Amino acid sequence: MTHLLRAEYGPQGRSGEVKTWHVVRSSDPTAAMCGREIEADAETRDESEWGTGLRGCQQCGSLYIHEAPHFPGDPHR
Ligand SMILES: [Zn+2]
Repeated sequence: MTHLLRAEYGPQGRSGEVKTWHVVRSSDPTAAMCGREIEADAETRDESEWGTGLRGCQQCGSLYIHEAPHFPGDPHR
């Protein structure tokens, strides 16, 4: 696995909903591919969950597709 999904929380923090899911490289799990910093203890999901209905970051999505062309998901679907 080379990438992970990580949660960005809304104004209520982790007691509220996850606002956006970002993609990080597993070698640098606090830096989203779009440039946003992710809290070190934010929720983490497997990259295989990208495109399954999670609210993903569009910018991370397009960068991710470039780095992981094996992945069948399409963020513009
Ligand atoms: Zn992002």
